[in-house]
Amino acid sequence: MKRLFEKKDRQCPVCGKMNGASARYCGKCRYPLPELSTDYEGRCGNCHKLLGGDAYCRYCGTKAGKGSYEPYEDIVQCVYGPMPVDREHVCRKCGYKWTSCKMIDDERFCPRCGGSVNVTEMPGRFSP
Ligand SMILES: [Zn+2]
Ligand SMILES: [Zn+2]
Ligand SMILES: [Zn+2]
Repeated sequence: MKRLFEKKDRQCPVCGKMNGASARYCGKCRYPLPELSTDYEGRCGNCHKLLGGDAYCRYCGTKAGKGSYEPYEDIVQCVYGPMPVDREHVCRKCGYKWTSCKMIDDERFCPRCGGSVNVTEMPGRFSP
């Protein structure tokens, strides 16, 4: 789903100067400003994480199709960090269960009903 946005002024993350919506570089310190994306195809309208067909966002609990659809910074996630850990998620409301294997787990809501989940780490897979 794509929507049209009012372009907003953007603040330089380095010096704090407000730059025009179409600025590519900060007018004060020349810092390259990140590209803003408005592509919400298959994404949560609130936190812009990929929904993958879920009825509710796993990360913020927003229902699919809801949210403010603000332009977001399309930042490539850093791939270095701690080893990924298997985690089991169980919905406290409907009992839906799923596992994920990530370095940092930020799935906090049930993709089916939006309820909060219990997260259990399942260590062992990557230990020597
Ligand atoms: Zn700046
Ligand atoms: Zn979300
Ligand atoms: Zn649920």
